[in-house]
Amino acid sequence: MQEKLKALAEAARRDITVAGEPARVEELRVRFLGKKGELSQVLGSMGKLPPEERRSLGEVANRVKAEIESLLAAALERAEGAKLEAELRGPKLDVSLPGRGVRPGRRHPVSRTLEDVVRTFARLGFDVLHGPEIELDYFNFEALNLPKDHPARDMQDTFYVETASLGLAKVPGSPVLLRTHTSPVQVRAMLNQKPPLRIVVPGRVYRRDSDLTHTPMFHQVEGLLVDRDVTFAELKGTLDAFVKAFFGSSTRTRFRPSFFPFTEPSAEVDISCTQCGGKGCRVCKQTGWLEVLGSGMVHPNVFSASGYDPREVTGFAFGMGVERLAMLRHGIGDLRMMFENDVRFLEQF
Ligand SMILES: [Zn+2]
Repeated sequence: MQEKLKALAEAARRDITVAGEPARVEELRVRFLGKKGELSQVLGSMGKLPPEERRSLGEVANRVKAEIESLLAAALERAEGAKLEAELRGPKLDVSLPGRGVRPGRRHPVSRTLEDVVRTFARLGFDVLHGPEIELDYFNFEALNLPKDHPARDMQDTFYVETASLGLAKVPGSPVLLRTHTSPVQVRAMLNQKPPLRIVVPGRVYRRDSDLTHTPMFHQVEGLLVDRDVTFAELKGTLDAFVKAFFGSSTRTRFRPSFFPFTEPSAEVDISCTQCGGKGCRVCKQTGWLEVLGSGMVHPNVFSASGYDPREVTGFAFGMGVERLAMLRHGIGDLRMMFENDVRFLEQF
């Protein structure tokens, strides 16, 4: 028995000191100290020995067990250190590998177009004003010469806000709605400031439309200039300068008589086709012209409703859809793509 224990201790010393990996160390622990391991096997036959011999043998067995345990602990520490060292040096962990890049985002074509328009008018001396998107019927329609039952209201059907359910105070005689254009800001500006006035108003507007060329929400930039003796010639000159700055210096403008309730006279502004230069193509439907904005001289009734004296001042106003400008600039066929948030579409700009 003593001999067996000696041989066991020697085998353990020999094998454990050369174990190179944690898994191998565990394997040896099971082999020597496991429930069915070699030490258990030797001790298993101890029961047949007389008590005297059993005691001295037990002492030896405990020493051997303690030695194997400390050998195993040292081997495990060594093996784990070596493994970590190998991982740091070896190809598995390449600390020189470049990190994963964060793809930079970019601004939406509508935002960029809107800023370009505003910047162009800022260079022409216009101030930028903002106003509420939830607006009173009075500012959105009535003050702009669109009294109740005016037929032109049909073209600007919008979304109404239930003031009672929102706990808002009811405004007598004026329903609350999502503005259909940014023009109410013009009225608000005139009520707050004395003439002369030179402003552009960018922002979101809402209408009950949805098809290839209409979305229920879109963006507008409108402008207003009021002073003494402002003429239609200044309207034409200002818009021609804007068009040339925005679409290119060779772009021509054309003014066609039109109707808007808040201006008189009124004109649609066409530009020479950005695709064919005026020769005629699919984009301009062979006409050579593209309609881009509406304009006109401010109606006297609008001045009166806004606290300006129509005998003292004159002025012009204009408005354009930002999405339409972006579509013309980038050759986009479907307006709705602007708001689908498909990254493949947005990445092209
Ligand atoms: Zn064309």
